[in-house]
Amino acid sequence: MTRLLLIGPPGAGKGTQAVRLAENYGLPAISTGDIFRSNVKNETELGAKAKAYMDAGDNVPDSLTNALIRDRLAERDCESGFLLDGYPRTTDQVRELDEFLAGHGTALDAVIELVADPDVVVERLRKRAGDQGRSDDDEAVVRHRLEVYASQTAPLVDVYGGRGVLVKIDALGAIDVVTARITDALAERGIALADRSRL
Ligand code: ADP
Repeated sequence: MTRLLLIGPPGAGKGTQAVRLAENYGLPAISTGDIFRSNVKNETELGAKAKAYMDAGDNVPDSLTNALIRDRLAERDCESGFLLDGYPRTTDQVRELDEFLAGHGTALDAVIELVADPDVVVERLRKRAGDQGRSDDDEAVVRHRLEVYASQTAPLVDVYGGRGVLVKIDALGAIDVVTARITDALAERGIALADRSRL
């Protein structure tokens, strides 16, 4: 049973690494950003509420995000662990997650911080805007998302650092290299891959 978090600024590669880590550790990857985007695409009530915040590069209100995560973590596939990508993003969300974990008598095994220079992430997101056409990858919105990260999410790194679960990873370099850095750092903490033959 492994419970992991991925934290880092927009463009640090959380989504890319989440898919690989979920596979390597046999965990469901839960991305609040992906869940919101699919709700917007399918024109659900939640999507309608979230869209304006996302397009502006602001966090969706905690009340909506917390309710969504509470439901998702209660699903059966999360019983044996999970990998959260993009949640928690605020101190209120940390409180919510803490309550959930305490209620289940568990805790996080590791919080993986993807560390990337702001100039590099801006450049990566500029490329992604061309490739994927995400409405929040517009340059002004990207700058705002970085500010929101710095003010609302970066403080969480210290919170988890204080709990001794933080694993800092240099997010610059080839995708495989970054994945290997993460798996090595987790191995040092006794967190093993689900199936070694896959690597
Ligand atoms: P990135 O980390 O690259 O900004 P995400 O896919 O994680 O991309 O998030 C995209 C958008 O979805 C955010 O800008 C925000 O509007 C919304 N979002 C995602 N996760 C959360 C969250 N935990 N709390 C509030 N809003 C969120």
